[in-house]
Amino acid sequence: MTNLLVGLAGNPNSGKSTLFNALTGARQRVGNFPGVTVARHEGAVCRRDAVINLVDLPGIYSLSAFSEEEVVARHFIMDEKPHLLVDIADATALERSLYLWVQLRELGLRTVLVVNMMDELHRSGRLLDCARLSSLLGIPVVPTVARKETGLTQLLDAVVQAAQGAPPPPLVIAYGPELDWMIEELARKIERNDFLTTFYPARLAAIKYLEEDGPILTQGRREHPQLSAEIEELARQYSLRCRSSFGESSASLITDYRYRYISSILGRGVLSTDSHIRRLNLTDAVDLALTHWLIGPVVMLMVLYATFWLTISLGNAPMGWIESLFGLLGDLGREYVPAGLLQSLLVSGVIDGVGAVLGFVPLIALMFLAVSFLEDSGYMARMAYMLDRLFRMFGLHGYSIMAFIVSGGIGGGCAVPGVMAARNLRSPREKIATVLTAPFMSCGAKMPVFTLLAAAFFPGYVTGTLFWITLASWGFVFVAAKLLRTTIIAGPSTPFLMELPPYRLPTCKGLLLHAWERVWQYVRKAGTLILAVSILLWAAMTYPGLPEQRRQHYDHAAATIRDRNDLSAEEQSAELAALEAGRAEETIRHSSAGRIGQALEPISTLAGFDWRTNIALVGGLAAKEVIVSTLGTAYSLGDIDLENSGMLAQRLAQSPEFTKITAVSLILFSMLYAPCFVTVIAIGREIGIRWALFSVVFNTSFAYLAAVLFYQTATALISLA
Ligand code: GDP
Ligand code: MG
Repeated sequence: MTNLLVGLAGNPNSGKSTLFNALTGARQRVGNFPGVTVARHEGAVCRRDAVINLVDLPGIYSLSAFSEEEVVARHFIMDEKPHLLVDIADATALERSLYLWVQLRELGLRTVLVVNMMDELHRSGRLLDCARLSSLLGIPVVPTVARKETGLTQLLDAVVQAAQGAPPPPLVIAYGPELDWMIEELARKIERNDFLTTFYPARLAAIKYLEEDGPILTQGRREHPQLSAEIEELARQYSLRCRSSFGESSASLITDYRYRYISSILGRGVLSTDSHIRRLNLTDAVDLALTHWLIGPVVMLMVLYATFWLTISLGNAPMGWIESLFGLLGDLGREYVPAGLLQSLLVSGVIDGVGAVLGFVPLIALMFLAVSFLEDSGYMARMAYMLDRLFRMFGLHGYSIMAFIVSGGIGGGCAVPGVMAARNLRSPREKIATVLTAPFMSCGAKMPVFTLLAAAFFPGYVTGTLFWITLASWGFVFVAAKLLRTTIIAGPSTPFLMELPPYRLPTCKGLLLHAWERVWQYVRKAGTLILAVSILLWAAMTYPGLPEQRRQHYDHAAATIRDRNDLSAEEQSAELAALEAGRAEETIRHSSAGRIGQALEPISTLAGFDWRTNIALVGGLAAKEVIVSTLGTAYSLGDIDLENSGMLAQRLAQSPEFTKITAVSLILFSMLYAPCFVTVIAIGREIGIRWALFSVVFNTSFAYLAAVLFYQTATALISLA
């Protein structure tokens, strides 16, 4: 019996896990890759006289070791020295999938290429000549449909056979007249000194130095500091030379040439169109319209509008039910819990605070459903395709789109996975620009803020308001990205390649699962983080209470009103209510949060925000939902007129310090200001703590500027009119 260690590598979503499960069944172990939290699935399968130990590697696009997944995969490959790697390619995105394979083969690894999703390929009316691809690449190529478990035995046979043969020489591809001599020059120097050659073929090490590949730089410095410094310096000079002659770094030229190599292979009769199916191919016909230069964008805007319209009109009723439920809970609290601090904490802090956030669950759920539908159907990829050219104009990259959509580009996302989705950007500058601006999008936490303000100040026009807010957030992304990419992170753009997947009808189960996962996250957050911050802010808005002297003043005034005989019972209670409102207002003003809010007022009035809004915005630094819950608590604490304790939107609309202009200014500010705490941490992990701090300062200044500009202009225009 031979024991083989085999890694399953491939792009995310290529079907690795499906294939792994189909091959190993229940014989799996789950552990962790050393030092990181990436789960490691292992399983063994027997074939002929070999035991194949399979390891499902995390999904990666390249071996550049930018992301945790790439680092894990590379460690596995370099340290555990598997006998063979099975590279799983998505047949419908062969060009992109083969990019990883090229890198594996440049390392001189034994590979078997699996072309998965053959069913999708055929459905889209294309044919793949696997035998031809195999002879052009010089390795076994096995077509599979992992979901239907076809091609599995062929794959196992190919693995056993390939593992027995002699190891193949590393793949050498031509990097063109610009780069080849640089690579040779570096490779000669590396070879002469026998530097790093136990790990990498000399030519590959040279290429990696030109790519400024992190792991090899580290390893080189460890092995031979002086020589490594010399080579790094030489590589840097070469890269500068590339930039001055071709406007691109050596790293992006290398990427370009790898893709050229792949296209040249695929162009040699590997992929063809099944002329028989072609006539029936719906996807192409639909795409003719949906990606048309004029019809495409119009349809895209209509889809966006329809998404909002659907979610608002379907979500309104259930949102009302939840709000009434919390209203009822609040009334119960007021009735059965004795008046005092405990009642205030329960009713104003917990029920009105968290309730304001939970009220939006139906909206969030519908939003997520809609976005999952767009994603799973394949339409999202068309949006990305159409937006790509626009993105490049502003110094972003086609791959940035996923980061923006995941962050809430359509509405209801989250910037934390959004920031992580920027990982597949190769150019660090484009990645920084993407990560810094992705938090502008309307995430699931900001949607309630926007919907609340829209319902309060633009009733009857909520859908339209959300639609314009979303377009505005994209506009601001472009302005900020351009600003950043022409100043502190200026530099050229890198090439973009993308294939459009065929349209699929999403399955109900898939949609519900997707949406449920995210809704549950939202609810859990409301029950934990938001609850904690709400209580904290309630305390900050309650303590320290009024000084003894003022309290006596109010008690005394109340007693005087009660003693007056010249008032009717109604007049008396009206006067008392007014007095108590005054007391409540003074208590919040006097509280620690109130003082912070007031301290900020001199700056914030320029944007139209009073001290109460300031408290909410400071709270929003923890999580954007807190803006809603804090407004809920602040207006609940000040609102002791029980007859009128209506919905928060009504309270806001009635309050004198809020106008339509303030509302828009607040929308602008909440859209753009510092990312929430968790996002800042994610940014720190992705591009460094300095950029994370920068994002807090930059985004807040940007937001403030936008809000002040809007508020001042609008106020001036109104006074002119
Ligand atoms: P991984 O990210 O590479 O582990 O990919 P998964 O195994 O999670 O698969 C991603 C998606 O592709 C899942 O929805 C699978 O059901 C689907 N899938 C996997 N293999 C095939 C296939 O051969 N044909 C089709 N149509 N879908 C597949
Ligand atoms: Mg997987």
